[in-house]
Amino acid sequence: MASKETFNTNDAVLMDIGEDYKDIRESVQRVCADFPNEYWSSKDEVEAYPTEFIDAMTQAGFLAALIPEEYGGSGLPLRAAAVIMEEVCAAGCHAAAGHAQMYIMGTVLRHGNDEQKRKYLPDIASGKLRLQAFGVTEPTTGSDTTQLRTRATRTDAGYVINGQKVWTSRAQHSDLMLVLARTTPASDVPKRVDGISTFLIDIKACLGKGLEIRPIKAMVNHHATEVFFDNLEVPSDALVGEEGRGFRYILDGMNAERMITAAEALGSTRWFLNAATQYANERVVFGRPIGSNQGIQFPLAQARIQADAVDMMIRRATALFEQNLPCGAQANMARYLAAECLWNAAEACMQTHGGFGFAREYHIERKWREARLARIAPVSTNLILANIAQHTLGLPRSY
Ligand SMILES: Cc1cc2nc3c(=O)[nH]c(=O)nc-3n(C[C@H](O)[C@H](O)[C@H](O)COP(=O)(O)OP(=O)(O)OC[C@H]3O[C@@H](n4cnc5c(N)ncnc54)[C@H](O)[C@@H]3O)c2cc1C
Repeated sequence: MASKETFNTNDAVLMDIGEDYKDIRESVQRVCADFPNEYWSSKDEVEAYPTEFIDAMTQAGFLAALIPEEYGGSGLPLRAAAVIMEEVCAAGCHAAAGHAQMYIMGTVLRHGNDEQKRKYLPDIASGKLRLQAFGVTEPTTGSDTTQLRTRATRTDAGYVINGQKVWTSRAQHSDLMLVLARTTPASDVPKRVDGISTFLIDIKACLGKGLEIRPIKAMVNHHATEVFFDNLEVPSDALVGEEGRGFRYILDGMNAERMITAAEALGSTRWFLNAATQYANERVVFGRPIGSNQGIQFPLAQARIQADAVDMMIRRATALFEQNLPCGAQANMARYLAAECLWNAAEACMQTHGGFGFAREYHIERKWREARLARIAPVSTNLILANIAQHTLGLPRSY
């Protein structure tokens, strides 16, 4: 029996509460149709980068959605970028291979000088340059970002960087990397968020000259790496914005990151729910479709309800962002709800498939592994709860 409902968020009722970009959704679906589950499984098996997919997304202009038209992009609002990534994931494609460009680019756009924008943005928009790597997390300090130990020391010619990053995704598949490094010791600044700077590093020019990148074998095909800086000399124009204000700059970008990755989780939730409902209607055990059992129905219905809440929260957060209003809490809430909703949907889909959920040909186990990441990276749900407790509820500081 065919599935009764295909879960799409472009229902008429939702169009009243925010632009839905029906045309963009359809265009993304057309691109993604060329990259079926088998394509992603083949990449997953050998931990390969989906170059063909990224090229197709770049050629269609989707990865330059947020770059202003004067620099060769489409100049679309964040809501449109969220819709693009939601559709990518709803189609079963892996948005993480290309998503960082959308939110890292914002740091260059908002805080870079005219020369940096002219130098990089048109080439990023055209696909000539990839800006896909964002080096924040460090092995010793983890979520405690302001304590990061990578140091950039000013010299006559620029800066010398020493330190290490971990889990820097896609560093081997990117031309540029945005790196966060301390330029003034924490003990010499009034606030711990001060004294940290943002650098845009030309990876290929630096490799072997103080920059080393080593892949990390991981549970998901995320192209994660460790990055080592050993007296890496970078020119002074690698600094983005003012020295010492880098942490504040990336906070802006992090709100966008929260919303875009929340939209990805929403798209993946749709993928899981569509796969699960189809299977639950078709699989007959004890003489009836397994979907007739409440034990199968209810977790799927719960995830479906949560997904609508996520969709509305993303719309709210992106609307605030686009009006330059404070949106940190809403971005975090959207991200938290999305990560939990996705995991619930992944679990429900896995349970619905029984033993077949473990068979690679169903693609559930791969998507289930990928879904688990949303509760850890780019921000762990614990840290979101701590943030909401502290900044929204006014509870004592815990991080
Ligand atoms: C596949 C993958 C890709 C990634 N890509 C990138 C990337 O491209 N760039 C980048 O910079 N980073 C990246 N990360 C790193 C990711 O952002 C971090 O793993 C994540 O932020 C958590 O930091 P941590 O692993 O150091 O955990 P830790 O900070 O060591 O924390 C461990 C656990 O303790 C919890 N915890 C810590 N402090 C508190 C507290 N005060 N209250 C409650 N709970 C707390 C955390 O939430 C977490 O659950 C990636 C990670 C993975 C796994």
